[in-house]
Amino acid sequence: MTAVRTRFAPSPTGFQHIGGFRTALYAWLYARKHGGQFILRIEDTDQERRVPGAIRYIIESLQWLGLDYDEGPTRSDLQLLGEDSDAAPTVAGDSGPYIQSLRKARYQAVAQELIDTGFAYRCDCTPERLAAEREEQQARKETPGYAGYCRTRAVPADVPHVVRFKIPETVSVAFDDAVRGHIVFDNPSLRDMVILKSDGYPTYHLASIVDDHDMDISHVLRGEEWLSTAPVHILLYEALGWKIPVFCHLSHILGPDGKKLSKRHGAEALGAFMEGGYLPDALLNFIARIGWSPGEGSEQEIFTRSELIEQFSLDRVSKAGGVYDSEKLLWTNGVYIRNMPDEEFTRLAQPYFEQAGLTIAGSGWHSLLPHIKERCKVLPDAVTAGGFLFQQTLDIDPAALVTKKLSKEIVEQVLDHTWQALKEVTHFKAETIEIVLKGLIEQLGLKPGQVFGPLRLAVTGSMQTPPLFESIEAVGQEKTVARLEHALGIVRRHSSP
Ligand code: GLU
Repeated sequence: MTAVRTRFAPSPTGFQHIGGFRTALYAWLYARKHGGQFILRIEDTDQERRVPGAIRYIIESLQWLGLDYDEGPTRSDLQLLGEDSDAAPTVAGDSGPYIQSLRKARYQAVAQELIDTGFAYRCDCTPERLAAEREEQQARKETPGYAGYCRTRAVPADVPHVVRFKIPETVSVAFDDAVRGHIVFDNPSLRDMVILKSDGYPTYHLASIVDDHDMDISHVLRGEEWLSTAPVHILLYEALGWKIPVFCHLSHILGPDGKKLSKRHGAEALGAFMEGGYLPDALLNFIARIGWSPGEGSEQEIFTRSELIEQFSLDRVSKAGGVYDSEKLLWTNGVYIRNMPDEEFTRLAQPYFEQAGLTIAGSGWHSLLPHIKERCKVLPDAVTAGGFLFQQTLDIDPAALVTKKLSKEIVEQVLDHTWQALKEVTHFKAETIEIVLKGLIEQLGLKPGQVFGPLRLAVTGSMQTPPLFESIEAVGQEKTVARLEHALGIVRRHSSP
């Protein structure tokens, strides 16, 4: 078997969302599984649509996801384009440069070779001529496309021209797609395609086959939108006498409405996931499972990276487009958070606390950590679940304490008695606190909810916090007592509805 070499070949025409990175992930997994190489190549031949910062974004996103590449753009090549990034490894490889705009001479040479061998020709048709031709074809209800006017004309090299690839009149192209099986294109209505533009840049067709050949790519994993161009690419490979790689056309990721996933569905660039408190491993795990499933009968959802590498195979990639399910992503992220070592969780949660003006400190945090993690789907949830530990004063709404069901008198009584009782506890631990509070409920002749509700709100500021006795212990005696006193003051000043 030939060595496996795969590539990710994004165009920096925008900021890719997870659909693009899934292609990268599958190519990476396949290479890693077979001990091969994974290559990053930047396809920037459409200079007009190039978005500044998009190359840096691709490199930094791959780094964040942990998709390391063996060959790719060098830092000096990136500097030439004003896209340098610390994340760019100083890797190169023998078949670079890996940025297409730096390889123009190579494509021009291949285009010339195709002209010399009679597979391509120069064309100087004006835009007006092409437009008129298109109009006539439309009037005749024919598929529009170049009819071949310049095929038999000898357009000199020194007039402005494009280079077109000659498509044979009658042709049937067949190949075995690693995901879709045997595919036959019978007489695809292909027209002589432009392979080199008048500005000297190649089109995607030429650049991609030259690079896949020069970079010795064994498996081309790309989106299904390229399937219809596969016959042209195969004809180009044949014209050049080059070995054809294995093609794998990956189906689109679909949104919940069954349409191709897009921004409309909230498919953001990766920055939104980074800032939103998603973990790269969880996101990777989630992306892998959209459109790929492990062996028959396996229900496994959570995979370590090495499990993914071990179990990944192209024949388990689904032909039907997988659906993006944001609830499942949240669930997956929550599983990763719960399984994460405490120190790492604390380190990653810290910036979200800082954004809220808080600092994680003290033993209360550690004792409550299992409960806090349990309540987190994304990292900022840690602030919702545990922020009360570090707040100086709680913002308490008296209307939440004193309600129709709970009169001002009862709330005052509860806060006053719990304050007295908790002030006296000598061993301030959850178990002791529980005994004291339960005794108090009996003594006051109230229902547990009447006591625990106001108490929870007074000590934590919210009804959605971890278990009450543990939370009180974690807040600590001094702060608990002060908070009860503070809440009592608020209730006393409050006039009941
Ligand atoms: N540059 C193409 C894109 O960004 C990639 C196609 C390919 O992988 O061959 O869609």
